[in-house]
Amino acid sequence: MKTLRLILGDQLNYKHSWYRNDDPDIYYFIAEMRQETDYVVHHIQKVIAFFEAMREFSEWLTSRKKHVIYYQLQDKKNQQDLSKNIKHLIEKYGFIKFEYQLPDEYRLDQQLNNLCADLKIDFEAYDTEHFLTKRNELAEFFNGKKNLLMESFYRNMRRKHKILINGNKTPEGGKWNYDQSNRRKWKNNFEIPHQCQFRRSVTATFNRIVKSGIKTLGDVDPKHFPWPSNRKDSLKMLRHFCKYLLPHFGDYQDAMDPNEAYLFHSRLSFSLNSKILSPLEVIETAIDQWKLNKKTIHISQVEGFIRQILGWREYMRGIYWREMPNYSKQNKLQNFNSLPPFYWNADTDMNCLHQTIKNSLQHAYAHHIQRLMITGNFALLTQTNPDQVEAWYLGIYIDAIQWVEMPNTRGMSQYADGGLVATKPYISSGAYINKMSNYCGDCRYKVKERTGEDACPFNSLYWNFLAEKKAHFKGNPRMGMIYSLLDKMSRDELKALKKKANQFIHNLRHE
Ligand code: FAD
Ligand code: SF4
Repeated sequence: MKTLRLILGDQLNYKHSWYRNDDPDIYYFIAEMRQETDYVVHHIQKVIAFFEAMREFSEWLTSRKKHVIYYQLQDKKNQQDLSKNIKHLIEKYGFIKFEYQLPDEYRLDQQLNNLCADLKIDFEAYDTEHFLTKRNELAEFFNGKKNLLMESFYRNMRRKHKILINGNKTPEGGKWNYDQSNRRKWKNNFEIPHQCQFRRSVTATFNRIVKSGIKTLGDVDPKHFPWPSNRKDSLKMLRHFCKYLLPHFGDYQDAMDPNEAYLFHSRLSFSLNSKILSPLEVIETAIDQWKLNKKTIHISQVEGFIRQILGWREYMRGIYWREMPNYSKQNKLQNFNSLPPFYWNADTDMNCLHQTIKNSLQHAYAHHIQRLMITGNFALLTQTNPDQVEAWYLGIYIDAIQWVEMPNTRGMSQYADGGLVATKPYISSGAYINKMSNYCGDCRYKVKERTGEDACPFNSLYWNFLAEKKAHFKGNPRMGMIYSLLDKMSRDELKALKKKANQFIHNLRHE
């Protein structure tokens, strides 16, 4: 049966069962399209990474004697719209069946549903065979429960998939969670193993993107592209991480340093989110490495890593599918300020923000705590519109795809869902940033000052936020202690903090 199979840019699963059989009647369709490059302003490295990975995947298919129809961005026949391209191909080549893998983004899911409703031929949707959970598995797991605690979902995943579980169903090492030991500051006390960097030339792809006039952000050196775009390089990165960085991953998971963009983080999110690597093989490789080296790799390092993939990653996806489409409009804290212009150029005297944004523009990367406790924290404390915060996160990072970006940004970081994902808002004054990072020493602001000319802005913003949003958080048991401190503050002190914060927010908007 002459069949057209669609492969989206983030469905590059080399192990998918689709590719096991040779059927000369099956044609695979992969397309670079403006509908994907233009729905938000993306980082240039992100666009390059996806186009490179798609091209390499199509070459791999061709080398396995599959029929591939690949549309480059500038091809005349490319109508730049998924539905139009598919309808045209069906008509032109007389396909009698259309098949696709379930997309992870709601907008593409809607588009494909609408397209299929319009088709005159048979169609069928397949699983991507990537995740460890089905789209609605989290919703079923929490059905009837009031709190959607990640920890209970994660423990269930550990048991269900027998990951770091002893025969008697107890957690390996005796504890489910080693979060408490994952909080070391980086003090330069030993050398960080070098990163697995690729230095390929992507000049041809870069030139095509520039020529097509796509609006992008951030920097790239097209002669030395640092990201993996195929299975061989992604596996190399995974093995490199497990061998050299995993031994310290957990310890320094929350640490931040201006000179160390990656510290002990894996940089595997692009390979995972494009589906070049499967979460299970990443988890199993880490566990194998730990089993071989139990003397040098403590259980807390490997558990910390696995929690991110087996726990947070699957959890965020489940939240997305449980809550969409309404989630994309959530703004429970009613924040409406504009995102400060320095998010686009790093032009600020606040060293923590300057360094984090500068790195993000340079590398299309920031690690989790920089995203959460620097840029996310500041956006929330300055009561920024979550739509604008999200557009920034969705564009700037190499790994940003809505199913994982949205619950992280709107939910975990901006508390716009009213506490569905986070049991309390991820906010802090300068003290936390100083405790976990090496930013404050070189900052023009003084981290311990609250209201003076040089006071760290995070301090007044923090107390002002708590005061202004009191109605939202007063009944939250996890906020009780901080609100009792706020209640004990003298009226004059609070007044001065509020004045300072509001002046600061006003100036941000009128810079
Ligand atoms: P590592 O620290 O080495 O962690 C290993 C893997 O665990 C990651 O590759 C990732 O697949 C997974 N992981 C870790 N934390 C999370 C998490 N909170 N949610 C889901 N998966 C997680 N991650 C994305 O993949 N895409 C995004 O668009 C994205 N946006 C984010 C926005 C905000 C505001 C925040 C706070 C976090 C966001 N994250 C996102 C989660 C996390 O920051 C990145 O996955 C991580 O920084 C990627 O770098 P890494 O591969 O070196 O991760
Ligand atoms: Fe950031 Fe304040 Fe520290 Fe400066 S002093 S780096 S603004 S936390």
